[in-house]
Amino acid sequence: MSTQQSTDPNRVIIFDTTLRDGEQSPGCSMNLEEKLRIAKQLEGMGVDVIEAGFPIASPGDFEAVNEIAKVIKDAVVCGLARSGNMDVDAAGEALKPAERKRVHTFISTSPLHMSVKLQMDPEDVHQAVIDSVTRARKYTDDVEWSAEDGTRTEHDFLCRCIESAIDAGATTINIPDTVGYTVPTEYAALIEMVMNRVPNVDKARISVHCHNDLGLAVANSLAAVSAGARQVECTINGIGERAGNASMEEIVMALRTRHDVMPFVNNIDTTEITKASRMLSGITGFNVQPNKAIVGANAFAHEAGIHQDGVLKDASTYEIMTPESVGLVQSKLVLGKHSGRHAFNEKLKELGYDLGDNAKQDAFRRFKDLADLKKDVFDEDIVALVDDEVMHAGERIKVVSLEINCGTVHTPPKASLTLEVDGEEKFCDGTGDGPVDAAFNCIKELFPHDTNLQLYQVHAVTQGTDAQAEVSVRLEENGKTVNGQGADTDTMVASVKAYVHALNKLLVEREKTAPAALSA
Ligand code: MN
Repeated sequence: MSTQQSTDPNRVIIFDTTLRDGEQSPGCSMNLEEKLRIAKQLEGMGVDVIEAGFPIASPGDFEAVNEIAKVIKDAVVCGLARSGNMDVDAAGEALKPAERKRVHTFISTSPLHMSVKLQMDPEDVHQAVIDSVTRARKYTDDVEWSAEDGTRTEHDFLCRCIESAIDAGATTINIPDTVGYTVPTEYAALIEMVMNRVPNVDKARISVHCHNDLGLAVANSLAAVSAGARQVECTINGIGERAGNASMEEIVMALRTRHDVMPFVNNIDTTEITKASRMLSGITGFNVQPNKAIVGANAFAHEAGIHQDGVLKDASTYEIMTPESVGLVQSKLVLGKHSGRHAFNEKLKELGYDLGDNAKQDAFRRFKDLADLKKDVFDEDIVALVDDEVMHAGERIKVVSLEINCGTVHTPPKASLTLEVDGEEKFCDGTGDGPVDAAFNCIKELFPHDTNLQLYQVHAVTQGTDAQAEVSVRLEENGKTVNGQGADTDTMVASVKAYVHALNKLLVEREKTAPAALSA
């Protein structure tokens, strides 16, 4: 459904900026393949507009927006641009292949930002609004203009800029709470003021973009919708600059659960929420806190006896939403060591994988290995296994074998590791402060490199001591960070896989920036 075609006055456009504002947050950078996976997930769950990046920011950002523009058909693909010609042109060019595209241009309008950050007079800012929107319209009819730091902008000037932006052809007007400063009553009043005072406001859709510095991003967004805004900018898991953006799953589930007091509709298939959340956590290594609304591990867990008793009698006693409504289904025992190729292929289809013949063969072989080690193979295991296979395909460095000696004995933990580097097997023994340290020291010995380990994180894919471990490793080199993941029933093997995955990604980053540095 096009954002322009929608005629229902209560229809709220869901504008996802996980790949732009979310990706901008420290440690959250994603590579092209990861951005494409997220974009397809967002499209599949019914997001109206996908803000894919900030094309002028870097060649990588330009490429990501351009590639996403080529494959996404059911959502509008959006690129961000400051008000300068080069910014707008970069966004327009990057978006060229998109079936439906939006250029999103912005400039600060608050007195503080104009004088300190931009060092521009209000008159010049006003002219920049007109010029940037006019230029963006050369690339598409779908242009969004944002008044950066909108909640700290003087009302007269805000209204004047909005009116001019609409006159110049902007079809969406975003009034962001860039610094996460506003509160629900004040923000609702601001939106109402704009709706009442800007004479041509009926020609545009009002959008909101809230940050969570005071924990109010979702509350502010919903207050704005009740006041007349009809687009909400948000991210999966609420990732984003500083304390993050309004979280999509909270916005969407609040609108759904409290439709009685907020009679608005949107296009999101809420049963895809859990999958989207886990995909993003896996890619970035940013797990959500256990008590996070909607997607936290405890969001649907009932511990207190009196609650459990009530829920068993009737789920609605303590549950305002069902786990199923967000796609959280009980782990089902699906396959075991006697399951055949046909059953496995059917399961892949059911889980939404469309693998080529070779990848399917490899996945089946790994499933059989897993079933030998683990009695019960759950859906989550298959997802971890296939994602692991996809992630590690075509890497320059591969894990061949690992042996670890550790325990309470008074000798340092020892690792014996064999890696394949560009087709050549290399072996070493190493020691360390612990088994993980010993194994990582071996990797450094076999493939010398100088990076900082910023994150090492283990979590279990399912319950039980035979569960697969999913490990995230974040490496930093010259200010660039990459996240690597690995899954295995052996935590140490998963750790080495995750480290090597991150290292492989760093090599791809290096290839783009400094081909000479590729030797190690
Ligand atoms: Mn923002």
